[in-house]
Amino acid sequence: MSVRQEMLKSIESKKFVPVNKPKKVSSYFGINTFSIPTMRKHVSKKTFEAFEKWLEEGKQITLTQANEIADAMKNWAISRGATYYTHWFQPMTGLTAEKHDSFISFSGPGKVIEKFSGSKLIQGEPDASSFPSGGIRTTFEARGYTAWDPSSPAFIIESELGKTLCIPTIFVSYHGYALDKKLPLLRSIEALNQSAVKFLKFFGNKTVKKVCSTCGAEQEYFLIDKNFYKMRQDLILTGRTLVGAASPKDQQLEDQYFGSIKERVINFMYELGEEAYKLGIPVMTRHNEVAPHQYEFAPIFEESNIAADHNQLLMELMKKVALRHDMVCLLHEKPFAGVNGSGKHLNWSLADDKGNNLLNPGSTPEGNLQFLAVLASVLRAVYKYSDLLRSSVAHAGNEHRLGANEAPPAIISVFLGDQLTNILDRIEKGKKSEISRQDIVDLGVSGLPLVNKDTTDRNRTSPFAFTGSKFEFRAVGSSQNISTSIAFINTIVADSLDYVRERIADAAKSKDFNTAVLGVIADLIRDTKKIRFEGNNYSDDWKKEAAQRGLPNVPSTAEALKALVKGENIAVCEKYKVFTKEELRSRYKIWLESYIKILEIEAKTLNEMVNACIVPNAFDYQGLLAHNLDSIVALKDKAGLKVQEPALEDLKTHLSEVTEMIYYVRKNAQSMMKFLEETHSLPEEEKAKHFFTDLKPLMEHIRKHADLLECVISDEHWDLPKYREMLFVK
Ligand code: ADP
Ligand code: MG
Repeated sequence: MSVRQEMLKSIESKKFVPVNKPKKVSSYFGINTFSIPTMRKHVSKKTFEAFEKWLEEGKQITLTQANEIADAMKNWAISRGATYYTHWFQPMTGLTAEKHDSFISFSGPGKVIEKFSGSKLIQGEPDASSFPSGGIRTTFEARGYTAWDPSSPAFIIESELGKTLCIPTIFVSYHGYALDKKLPLLRSIEALNQSAVKFLKFFGNKTVKKVCSTCGAEQEYFLIDKNFYKMRQDLILTGRTLVGAASPKDQQLEDQYFGSIKERVINFMYELGEEAYKLGIPVMTRHNEVAPHQYEFAPIFEESNIAADHNQLLMELMKKVALRHDMVCLLHEKPFAGVNGSGKHLNWSLADDKGNNLLNPGSTPEGNLQFLAVLASVLRAVYKYSDLLRSSVAHAGNEHRLGANEAPPAIISVFLGDQLTNILDRIEKGKKSEISRQDIVDLGVSGLPLVNKDTTDRNRTSPFAFTGSKFEFRAVGSSQNISTSIAFINTIVADSLDYVRERIADAAKSKDFNTAVLGVIADLIRDTKKIRFEGNNYSDDWKKEAAQRGLPNVPSTAEALKALVKGENIAVCEKYKVFTKEELRSRYKIWLESYIKILEIEAKTLNEMVNACIVPNAFDYQGLLAHNLDSIVALKDKAGLKVQEPALEDLKTHLSEVTEMIYYVRKNAQSMMKFLEETHSLPEEEKAKHFFTDLKPLMEHIRKHADLLECVISDEHWDLPKYREMLFVK
């Protein structure tokens, strides 16, 4: 029996991990968060008011007040069993980082007390030298500072050995440069707030105080048995399978196993839901059936900073909870070639302080006019800065989705749906000087309210789709931190809201307000038309048409990242104080480097798998074939065994084929290693380019032959878990 077959037997006999019956969510939702209501209960009225002012107006609290909050937070955390605290931050690796400190300090010789001060709450100082900074932090200045983000509640993470209070923080260098993903997001939220408030006031809203962006990230993922994972070096080191023949289509097999898949996964989902609710993450479970063993978790939307923190937390919980069920959660964008990949649909909208959604058509003509102006602003933002959006999702894993015959394409376009398109067409065609109040009333009554109700009109292939009351950016990869995408969307929309407001103000000098608004909207509709596409984004025709329209189609990560250092993009990010030029440059460097490193790790892993597993398995099988052939020829010659010539030829052919495949796999693996050596000292941009054009095809070539071997080598001799097992066995 092969190692793999033994392992399969052990999986078959495994018992499910049962979970407790689900409790009423309202009885424990947010129990592990130091939420605003919890804080109110634990601090003085005065301090609480100062804290609220900080949130609303950015007026920082005093150190005494911070001490009081820190003390309250500590007491609350200790009462819930926490013994450590950590500043929880999001460095540019895309993961989260923690540095744990104990609550204890000495109050005298041998006397320990629990202590946690306001200054420690507000600022920490982890050594930043091992986090990527992309050249922002010089080596002699290793210091990096974490600073409390009061807008995201602190929370307690439970593990078997204890509980830790986690305090969401930003991470900056000594000179104040953002070394993380959170600070630019917070800055973009502020930029959008300022532009949107001005915009609403301009449209006559006298009472608006605040506008924030709202987000809900639909998280896709795969689950597989932990034993399969442990036997695949590629999954362990790279998160995806670098070899593996497609599973033969066998619906019956699928049906047979589906029952048991469900029970195990549903147990996982119950437990994940419970863990998420304790942390105040408002998830709604969903079962996705696109690919075998692929699922989706969608949250109720929240303010984007909190949504981003919650998405990071959710990904960590998913991995942790899966292990408790002896499964591994795969968050890679393409764990299995030829099977659907995983993304993260980023739903985005704007809401004012009364909870009004700015992307909801209004109930009055004026409301509709404002809605159309916001919509036109988003169109202009995506039209003008589509490459910036594309750069925010440029990542080695996501490269397997974007443009690689899969959803969504590497071409950024916007889908609006039939009804909205019709309305925009009418506005565009309308003679703007003659648009009357009656026209706007008509729009409001007969056209727009329908947009809300329309749920059938869906285009699942569009990378940036309007879905009723929000836009859905579908190009984000399943493993990615959503902060950068949100930060860019917020920034470019802030820029467009300002632009549209100024244009209208200008036009309104010579005509009445409503006519001026419609005129500007009509211009924008016309000017941004090429970014709109209602058809099938996966089709080859669209690629051709997009090329004719002059829309960029950038499947390469390294190429897409260049938008980060383009003059126009730097200018808009600097204007809105979201990223400085240096910060953008550092991200360009880090993400380019990370692309190269990921591909290098993949190539080396593939080489080792070929040499330490696939080829030895193939040699065993080749030996068996050679031995067989030898015996048959001997029996034929010595014992007169009757063998027809074609049958003997067939045996020989098979042995030759296997021999040839082994040769191809080995030869190409050698070329690949030689290629890595030859490109080793190339400048990064050039290296990344060669990796895309040469290394990836070389790896594909090796894979092709390895997969052919997998299909002929006997089950007895093949050690790597197969697709049909990983994807269909409970
Ligand atoms: P659909 O099935 O059309 O994608 P859902 O209502 O199920 O729509 O929502 C999908 C996701 O969009 C959910 O995560 C939800 O929280 C999020 N979402 C809904 N409304 C908004 C909004 N105004 N802003 C941001 N995200 C939203
Ligand atoms: Mg969706």
